[in-house]
Amino acid sequence: MGIRGQLVLLVPGVVAIALAVVAGVAVRQSNRDTLEEFKELNLTALEALSVTIATSVAQNDMAGLDTVVAHATERLKGRGLVELAVLDDDGRVLAHSNPERFNRVLQDPFTQQAIQMDGAVWAKEGSVLRLGTPATSGIRWATVTARFSLAQMESVVDEVLRRWAMGTVGLFLFIAGALFFGLNRVVIRPVAVLERTVQRMGEGHLTARVPPLPGREMRELSEIVNRMASALQAERENLEHTVADRTRELSEANARLERLAVTDGLTGLFNHRRFQEALHSELLRCQRHKRPLGVLMFDVDFFKKVNDTMGHPVGDELLRRLAEVLSKDLRQTDLIARYGGEEFAVLLPETTKSEALQVAERMREAVEQRVNEATTWGQAITVSVGVATFPEDGETAEVVLEAADQALYVAKRQGRNRVIGARRA
Ligand code: GH3
Ligand code: MG
Ligand code: MG
Repeated sequence: MGIRGQLVLLVPGVVAIALAVVAGVAVRQSNRDTLEEFKELNLTALEALSVTIATSVAQNDMAGLDTVVAHATERLKGRGLVELAVLDDDGRVLAHSNPERFNRVLQDPFTQQAIQMDGAVWAKEGSVLRLGTPATSGIRWATVTARFSLAQMESVVDEVLRRWAMGTVGLFLFIAGALFFGLNRVVIRPVAVLERTVQRMGEGHLTARVPPLPGREMRELSEIVNRMASALQAERENLEHTVADRTRELSEANARLERLAVTDGLTGLFNHRRFQEALHSELLRCQRHKRPLGVLMFDVDFFKKVNDTMGHPVGDELLRRLAEVLSKDLRQTDLIARYGGEEFAVLLPETTKSEALQVAERMREAVEQRVNEATTWGQAITVSVGVATFPEDGETAEVVLEAADQALYVAKRQGRNRVIGARRA
């Protein structure tokens, strides 16, 4: 059960019990007081009467006694008198509110007690109050007993009870309402607000904050929760930044790795693998759009001699220089790669055979002139070039490449430092 439900049951429950106890004690006391008052009042009346009765008995004035009793009976009826008796020491009735009882002997325990006691006696028998008092004038002449109905008094008590009950219910409603109003403002509503906000935080809304709440404890609690949320929020933002940084670093590393995987370490050109991929995809594209594609294969003439006479590092330097010169005048769409040791391959999209032969010749000349310009490699550096094109020299990547290779072989055989176009067998 929620705190609201518990308070709804607990608060009125406790108030109701407390009020019931207070009301019960008060009603009981009031009951007792009313009875006591009733008894005292009638006893006084009876005692006052007993003096006249004692005088009548002393003078043996039985007619006067009857008159006194009849008058008194009439007078006290209004107070609930149901029986008035004057008895001698044996319990014999000397006078009675009901004249038929004259001369009867009453022997019930209360009457016996009243006759024997020197003072007044009383007893409550059900809803009847019995009173007894000696009738004294010098000496004791008789005993006066009376029965009073408590019905009238009980109706008064009932009225008191009814008023108490109504007052108690009214007070209960007021106290319970006030308590509930106060608790709702100070506890129930703040707890509900706190619960809602913490629930939102739990669902990941770390920007949610508990609004200012009444009461010191609630205020402190809300401040603690808000501080925790701020710390969590900062931690999460931190984490998000870290993840973003790591992701960026990772994708940069991936990009570097990808570049490395397709780059030749010595010259910085694309490598054999990248050339093969490009050749295949370009060829497919050209097949689809029925466009020409040129392939040039370069091989350095007598390169071994450079290594042998100048050393391997110089050979490497020469390869780098060659890469620079060969890349220089290519179009953006062309692709050059280091195909093998001292072999370079070039892809020329949208290029016919005659255009490819021209490009190859220009490149060969550029090598001959620019590579040897300011450096001595131990010999004049030249290249031989084989040229093949799609679709004239082959329909597939392998066939075109083979045709270029064959043309290169022919260039070597014919004396090197030249460009040879493939010829379809
Ligand atoms: P040819 O004109 O017939 O091509 O004669 P060649 O000497 O160039 O003969 P070949 O093509 O067979 O020799 C290639 C040489 O290239 C062999 C190898 O020592 C050298 N080579 C291959 N890769 C590298 C490299 O990365 N650096 C250096 N310095 N030399 C290399
Ligand atoms: Mg070679
Ligand atoms: Mg060679």
